[in-house]
Amino acid sequence: MEKKLGLYIHIPFCEHKCDYCDFYSITKFDDYVRYTDSLLLQMEDFSEKASDYVVNTIYIGGGTPTAIPVKRMLEIIDGIYRNFKVDEKVEFTMEANPATVNKKMLKKYYKAGVNRISFGMQSAIDEELASLSRIHSFDEFANSYNIAKQAGFENINVDIMYGIPGQTQRSLGYTLEQVCDLKPTHISLYGLKIEEGTPFFEKKDKLDLPDEDTEFEMYKYAVDYLRFRGYWQYEISNFSKDGFKCKHNLKYWNCQEYLGFGPAAHSYFDNHRFSYKRSVPMFMDALEYVDAGIDILEEDYDITPEERVDEYIMLKLRLAEGLNVNEFKYNFNKDFSQMFEKELKLYIENGFMEFKNGNYYFTTKGMYVSNYILSTFMTCESDITKNIAKGLDK
Ligand code: SF4
Repeated sequence: MEKKLGLYIHIPFCEHKCDYCDFYSITKFDDYVRYTDSLLLQMEDFSEKASDYVVNTIYIGGGTPTAIPVKRMLEIIDGIYRNFKVDEKVEFTMEANPATVNKKMLKKYYKAGVNRISFGMQSAIDEELASLSRIHSFDEFANSYNIAKQAGFENINVDIMYGIPGQTQRSLGYTLEQVCDLKPTHISLYGLKIEEGTPFFEKKDKLDLPDEDTEFEMYKYAVDYLRFRGYWQYEISNFSKDGFKCKHNLKYWNCQEYLGFGPAAHSYFDNHRFSYKRSVPMFMDALEYVDAGIDILEEDYDITPEERVDEYIMLKLRLAEGLNVNEFKYNFNKDFSQMFEKELKLYIENGFMEFKNGNYYFTTKGMYVSNYILSTFMTCESDITKNIAKGLDK
């Protein structure tokens, strides 16, 4: 059987750095030719290793992929098709900042094979967008969304954030309503995290952040509202109309293989996890001056059987359908119910988890505190969960 592969391409450039953002991206960069050439060289390096695979998902993320010149992006897309076998039904996503798209650009990307757009919108309230230091208004987003539709995109994701400074359940309700009225096929709902090293972290005591109970109420309200509008939750933060789950992200949660290109990108390939350092100059130097021996690997390790178990538990339980005990037994010859008898009993009795048809899965209450619960299911002293979680966040 043909092996399937996902590709992730990192475009680490933004017009402006949002105050809460911990993703690896830089501003004030203009050597896009050199960056594109480096990506192309890296793809060439993997072309042969991946020759047994068919690429069925591609995800160009960032940063802001729509902030780089169209010509460069088309070269990157061309490089993907030149170096890898791409399934004709590939799901091909590009992230977009609503302030950096225009119709001509989106038409070209659609024609080049991109068939899914993911808009970072976050809120429909301009004051909330300003508090996040986003560079667009809600009207600009709505306009960009309509432009994407006109350019041919039918599969569109919109990111919404809860826990924004000054946000209330009512204002989140307004955002959800505005977004659902546009009828995107997919909605991602993320809680604001105050990450160390960001301007938000520096001023966290001055931010008008909702308390934990309010934040949970917001999450619960959003999950219920999205269900009411026909969006089925298939993962802690992801909701879709029928038939529009994000296949690329599902690869992460189903422990399937993907290759990442660019600084800070993560890969899981041939039972091997690796990621690159967060430095554009180092990445370009390493690819350009091959003989200089510049090491761009941040992590590089084979997965031990114990880590494999932990990884499987952590990723499967993020999904709404949860972890199936028969599959777990088949994969690891272990009894999940017995391994965590005490914990599972406690979580089920307190309404954090349920068990049905052989599957353990989180309730909405459990999803909200899933990070803590998942940490209690880990079997070995390894950084694997931390690393994977970091990788999934970009
Ligand atoms: S949130 Fe998005 S647009 Fe803002 S700095 Fe981060 S990657 Fe760039």
